[in-house]
Amino acid sequence: MKRLGLTLLTVFALPFSSFAGGGEAPGRVWAKVQATNQFQRSLIANTGVVIEHVGDDFVAITGIPSEIKAVEKKFKVDSKFTLTEKMIDFPGRDARFHNFNEMLQALRSMATNNPDIVRIQEFGRSAEGRPLLNIKITTNAQERTDNKPGIIFIGGHHAREHVSVEFPIMLAQWIVAQYRQGSEDVQRMLQSREINIIPLVNPDGSEYDIADGRYKSWRKNRRPLGGRSIGVDLNRNYSYKWGTSGASRNPASDTYMGPTPFSEPETQAVKRFVEAKDNSTILVSFHTFSELILYPWSYADVRIANERDYLAHKKMAEDMAAMNGYRAIQSASLYPSSGDTSDWAYAEQNMFSFTFELDPRSQAQGGFYPGQGILDVVFRKNLRPCIYMIGLADNPYRSLQTNAGRFGLRSSSLLQ
Ligand SMILES: [Zn+2]
Repeated sequence: MKRLGLTLLTVFALPFSSFAGGGEAPGRVWAKVQATNQFQRSLIANTGVVIEHVGDDFVAITGIPSEIKAVEKKFKVDSKFTLTEKMIDFPGRDARFHNFNEMLQALRSMATNNPDIVRIQEFGRSAEGRPLLNIKITTNAQERTDNKPGIIFIGGHHAREHVSVEFPIMLAQWIVAQYRQGSEDVQRMLQSREINIIPLVNPDGSEYDIADGRYKSWRKNRRPLGGRSIGVDLNRNYSYKWGTSGASRNPASDTYMGPTPFSEPETQAVKRFVEAKDNSTILVSFHTFSELILYPWSYADVRIANERDYLAHKKMAEDMAAMNGYRAIQSASLYPSSGDTSDWAYAEQNMFSFTFELDPRSQAQGGFYPGQGILDVVFRKNLRPCIYMIGLADNPYRSLQTNAGRFGLRSSSLLQ
């Protein structure tokens, strides 16, 4: 479905003034800004805007008007327009996407029908009281001790990134179905690994984004902050190097980092959950969009100091990029942002950590709202990288060896 892309492109060509009126509350502005290097992108990110896409000689950004103004002082803005609800109210429902209740239903039925290998765990509540859920997939799933090498997949930090919620659900369903169909590879996998899948960290934001059948391009959670501002950027609210780059102190900003690290019930819950999973060695945070595999650091363009950790992260990211066609890159080499999940997981939880920016590649291909047709594409591309990481969870440094064991999963079994 290219409708979104075309709509935006059409709008993009029109003068800004066409959309500035309407008497609505000041919304967020989308802009295309000339920027050719990392230093420029870093300056732009530090104004608090969200960098939505990095091109060779430009970035696409969204931000509140004051942030856009700050960018315009130093950079050439090729075009911009105000995002209004009307403009992001696209025709046609993406029925394959799960709203919150449908997701609950899907996870619960997976757990009810497969109690031997699936355990559903509520590990916290959102600001509006929705349960935060993990699906643990392993043999003897009801055992309370976690002692197999584990991995944690997390989706849905950012409300509008609905594809990042669907992919983890599809991954869980695929693994369970393969096990039930008698795949020996997957049976071996579940005997020797514990797979944790948290599809949705930000249910309040996600529900708000689709309320009334209209996409609102919402990013943050929905905690009222006093005044007119609502929401903290959950992927700027983790503690490591919190607030040092690419995050805003302005509660109205889309990259608002929160009053303190872990100020939000959602990030607190993830923190407690991950801290309790001593057996887990790898954390993967799914986002959209851009088709990237990112590894630490994100807060600044400095290399991971431990050479072996650096090489293993880089090797894993590059191995996976060869599988899904994404670009593997250190996170901050695009632009810095602090307080994200991956920096925290590596720095403070001693885990290998990756951020996937899933399909599509660009705004023109649909951006946050590419349509449900992309789900099968995303799944086909990213299944193998996930199986690869699950395989390495016993010792991610094995990635540095040739012939790193990967359960001997035959490609045929992955393509069913
Ligand atoms: Zn995101």
